[in-house]
Amino acid sequence: MRDSEDRGCSEALPFARVITSDPEEEPPGRPRRHPVWRDVPDHLWDDWRWQSQNAIRSVRQLRDLLPFSPQELEVIGDLETEYKTAIPPYYFSLIDPDDPNDPIRIQSVPSPLEQENPSGYELEDPLEEDKDSPVPGLTHRYPDRALLVTTHVCTMYCRFCTRKRATMVRGGWDAISRNDERMIEYVREHREIRDVIVSGGDPLTLPYNKLKFFLDELAAIPHVDVIRIGTRVPVTLPQRLYDPSLIDLLASAGKVWIQTHFNHPREITPEAARVCLALLKAGMPVNNHSVLLKGVNDSLEVMRELMRALLRIKVRPYYIFHCDPVIGAGHLRTSVWKGMEIMEGLRGHLSGLGIPTYVVDSPHGGGKIPVMPNYLLSASDDAVILRNFEGLIVRYQAEDRPTTAQPTTTRGVSALLQGTKTALIPENSERMKRRRELTVINVNETEPGTRPDDAHGERKLKSLNVLANGCGS
Ligand code: SF4
Repeated sequence: MRDSEDRGCSEALPFARVITSDPEEEPPGRPRRHPVWRDVPDHLWDDWRWQSQNAIRSVRQLRDLLPFSPQELEVIGDLETEYKTAIPPYYFSLIDPDDPNDPIRIQSVPSPLEQENPSGYELEDPLEEDKDSPVPGLTHRYPDRALLVTTHVCTMYCRFCTRKRATMVRGGWDAISRNDERMIEYVREHREIRDVIVSGGDPLTLPYNKLKFFLDELAAIPHVDVIRIGTRVPVTLPQRLYDPSLIDLLASAGKVWIQTHFNHPREITPEAARVCLALLKAGMPVNNHSVLLKGVNDSLEVMRELMRALLRIKVRPYYIFHCDPVIGAGHLRTSVWKGMEIMEGLRGHLSGLGIPTYVVDSPHGGGKIPVMPNYLLSASDDAVILRNFEGLIVRYQAEDRPTTAQPTTTRGVSALLQGTKTALIPENSERMKRRRELTVINVNETEPGTRPDDAHGERKLKSLNVLANGCGS
């Protein structure tokens, strides 16, 4: 099994430096093309139709572009009869062909590991969406939201897709197109539905008129406030959104939010940045969810870089999804502990704008359950004990019971509850070190009468140092 712990991001992957966004540059550096498409004229390369027509769809094509062992070719040849593959040349060119564990390759190229079922309970419909479908293609699970599966087509088929039964399985779901009207009717009749997620497959692969049908019909329903378009097009085929008429169509509905899906910082290219900016300029907020995937982004370094790169292109990190137990994707799943470790390293270390919610989608169709490190450590009748990202542990007094503490001799967290201490501050805290330095500067440079060699200055310095040194009692 691949272990990405030591693969870091740009430090460990020289190739990443070639195409990763340069923080000094806006927009970031231009990605390369795989040599086989080096001479394709720009006007074709930038044409989404050319990209779709030339997508890699077979093992026969793959073996000419990437190294495989004969055994691998045999297994992925068998998989081909079951699952579809599609990788546009643009997205394929983000792969480092010399790295068999390349994170873009892991997401898009079939792997012999898909034949395994390591956990023993991988499922076709892990979220039980079909059981919450009053109309085929529509899932109504949460009180005010509904999900519409409008197509089984995607620009790139992600090997970990939760809805693989509809998108990737050959001859899979045929229930979708025959139920368009019924899905709209259901939303119209259920006034509690305020937020409709138009998904698939990828709805931006729909023919223009069909997408217009969904947008017009949903926009006209008064109780629908939000239409969310779930799409990986900005990631895998941004050229589709070079078409201003598609942006205009999306914007015309007036209620559209874009929900996209970047998983790795190398996916944030100048092309992706360009189309996200175009969507934002047209008035559509762009949020991102990532799926936590072994070998792709299961490291704090990669996730931090991804969140920062998203903020640079003004896309809001919204969710990190734990990878669902979908059939054929067991080798890409991590433990929930890995997700917790990553969240511990994000909160407090990055701007709050860059902190997504980590969620596990519950078995039995229980929906998304947020999971995070614990910041509430203990509680009493009149106070709670909280901790911050750097390990500072504080007593937080209840607003309505300011003087109820009756101290008993005790220590540690218990002393905070008793009110004999107010904080436990870790030694070597960078913040406290900064504060001490600032105190010395301030005292040395402030007005007469507050120098440390006079009584007032000495008292001030002493009190700040007491807090900085962690007593606080
Ligand atoms: S783009 Fe979305 S729906 Fe399509 S294969 Fe990827 S994860 Fe599945």
